[in-house]
Amino acid sequence: MIRIAALIGVALLPCALQAQPGATAELARRITQAGLDPEECYQVRELSFSKEDLRFYLTDGHLIFGHAVDGTRSVAVFAAAEEGGDAELLLLPPSRSERLSLAKYTGSPNLNEHFKTAVFIFTDDTYAQLSRQLRAQPAARKNPEAGALLAQVWNPVVRNFAGSFQIRLVADLLAGSRAAFGFFYAGLSGLRLGNFDVLYDPRADEQIFLGQVAAKDDHRYFNVWTKFQARSFRTRAREAPGLELALSNIRSDAIVEPGLALRAKTTARLIPGPEGKRALGFYISPRMKVTAALIDGEPADVFQPESLRANLIRGGANDAFLVAPAKELIPGRAYEIEFRHEGTVISEAGNGVYYVGARGAWYPSRGLEFSRYDLTFRYPKQLSLVATGQVVEDFTEGDWRVTRRRAEPRVRLVGFNLGDYEERSITRGGYTVEVYANRRVETALQPKPQRFLAIPAPKLTSLPPLRRPLDIVTIIIDPPMLSPQLNPVSRLERLANEIAAGLEFMAGHFGPPPLKTLTVSPIPGTFGQGFPGLLYLSTLSYLDPLERPASVRTEYQQTFFSEILSAHETAHQWWGNVVTAVGDQDEWLMEALANYSALLWLEKRKGPRALGDVLDEYKNHLLAKAADGRTTESAGPIVWGGRLESSLAPGAWKTIIYEKGSWIVHMLRRWMGDEKFLAMLGELRRRYQFRAVTTDQFRQLAAQFLPARSPDPQLQAFFEQWVYNTGIPSLRLNYSVRGKPPAVRLTGTLTQRDADEDFSVYVPIEVQFAKARPLVHWVQSSTGSVPFEVALRQLPSKVVLDPGNSVLRK
Ligand SMILES: [Zn+2]
Repeated sequence: MIRIAALIGVALLPCALQAQPGATAELARRITQAGLDPEECYQVRELSFSKEDLRFYLTDGHLIFGHAVDGTRSVAVFAAAEEGGDAELLLLPPSRSERLSLAKYTGSPNLNEHFKTAVFIFTDDTYAQLSRQLRAQPAARKNPEAGALLAQVWNPVVRNFAGSFQIRLVADLLAGSRAAFGFFYAGLSGLRLGNFDVLYDPRADEQIFLGQVAAKDDHRYFNVWTKFQARSFRTRAREAPGLELALSNIRSDAIVEPGLALRAKTTARLIPGPEGKRALGFYISPRMKVTAALIDGEPADVFQPESLRANLIRGGANDAFLVAPAKELIPGRAYEIEFRHEGTVISEAGNGVYYVGARGAWYPSRGLEFSRYDLTFRYPKQLSLVATGQVVEDFTEGDWRVTRRRAEPRVRLVGFNLGDYEERSITRGGYTVEVYANRRVETALQPKPQRFLAIPAPKLTSLPPLRRPLDIVTIIIDPPMLSPQLNPVSRLERLANEIAAGLEFMAGHFGPPPLKTLTVSPIPGTFGQGFPGLLYLSTLSYLDPLERPASVRTEYQQTFFSEILSAHETAHQWWGNVVTAVGDQDEWLMEALANYSALLWLEKRKGPRALGDVLDEYKNHLLAKAADGRTTESAGPIVWGGRLESSLAPGAWKTIIYEKGSWIVHMLRRWMGDEKFLAMLGELRRRYQFRAVTTDQFRQLAAQFLPARSPDPQLQAFFEQWVYNTGIPSLRLNYSVRGKPPAVRLTGTLTQRDADEDFSVYVPIEVQFAKARPLVHWVQSSTGSVPFEVALRQLPSKVVLDPGNSVLRK
């Protein structure tokens, strides 16, 4: 039984609550330590209950509830009878793609799993619902003796589970809207499938969620079996909860101490919503400790559990914490909130090179929200510190340097970086690019960033989904050792010129970037990150290609570090920082657009051949086969986002989001033609600036830029196949030409293989002539051969399938 907790333990480590002052911590302690109540133990037969699409059958066994805390019971345990005891969970995912996903992990498109034990954690009406049923059931009788035994065995397990949900348990208890938006979690010990997690959370975008922790090659993954909108949300009988709070006008005063600890005071304008009267949720890096919070000058209670912080440090995820005001807030009224926070987000990579480890989370936030920012940093004067925004003050004071920057009118997050830098600044087309290089290289590159991995605990309150604070693009290589003699300054001038030219190119097509100054700073590792006005760029990009370690010397890797990485991060100024994605399922758009913008710039500088080579490389990655013979691309549709990373297909997330994403954008470009494609990108920015876009809104916008009389005029078939499904077909063209001008007949067949039976896409066939513009004939592919016939007025010089890589195919 302990095994369950150990297995699910990614975010469910034993709860080692540190005693914290404050009523919220005390409430959390009482909830997590309450334990099971032997007086509320029932022998149950044929007890069944539903949570939307989930249907539980407790056929024969004991059900014991936890002790009440402030009148509320939030845990229960089911244990099947020793002999013949049984329980079952049934679930039928509502869509084909979710059934396929479930089948991939469980071997069946529908879940019908028997289990012997279950731990339930909930803040919804589960207790009331079940006790009502138990009272109505003559066969159900209380059994305190069995309860005492069960409590003894299960109490430690239940405490572990409750500990990992403590923020949400407390927030829901305080919020007073439990009946409407409380969650229900079940940790089940399945007979066939082993231990797995089930969550119903009305605050989530997709309320039903099933998954399992799995290990592969010493890495732990959380495999998402299925995740979808619950029935009453699909039918719109229920609505998502209202806004909890809005933050704006964020100001931070930070001191970087000589030992590299960061101490800061961050203030913001706070407007609570109806859901944010008694408990407010925020995110911050687990490396930062929030030591105090004040609302309109009055101290508020901060609850940031130590256990979760310690636990999440390994994964690097942001951590949630709660602020409980001394008195209830009035929805809609403006308050000022002040946080005091400190921690070690800056590390040394050796040889005097520093890096900021919690780039987007060193200050409390609500996730990614557009706001005005005003930042003041005080730091040792021998270092340089760069940050998002325009410098408005910069002076030295004794051993300290003070720099104040302002980011206006709005950005969605701010970062900083520091080091012993050399700088080049270039102004082109009204925009300034400042590139900073470390004077020396780090002795060893840091390990590549890992995608964090945590059980998706129910959302805090109405906090927006916790996402990576903007993409990391990386290629997977072992961190190479760098020789300390290498000179990261040697390419500085060139780098500044190239990035400035790239920024100007993109601004010409996409409109102005969010800030007039783009600062570029180094980061140890093989990745980059694009914050508004501030890029983090791998040290490898700073080095001369010939100086790079042997492990990154393939042609593609060289192109990646010399050309693609900086342009990709530059393009995030628009895709991710002006236009953003609504949900995890739309995040691919930002990466695909940023990466394809980088490829446009590559093509502009190096020619179409360079673009073709990169697309070929991506195609090879997508078609690479895992041990089970499946291709990387088949791991799942691109809209699955983070779900694509699983123990079944490690690395698939990156390949699909970035590389298939680039192919999808490329195919749209070929369909629209260059002029309309660039106009589409400009319009995307205009229509959605400082707003978020969904995949479907993008489809509708793109469809408006198709040439007249295109097949699939709303791009529905295109998105259905390439975005919402998987598959890369092989296509072959056979054709013959008969007749004489002006009565020429082109007849042929398009043959499709190596894809699912129902795979079908529109394929352009370009008919070229010696002295006339080419003609494009579209054929809708399907499994096997599709005939086509075109009447021509003159003889073609050439008939080309898929000109310019217009279809992703084998
Ligand atoms: Zn990116």
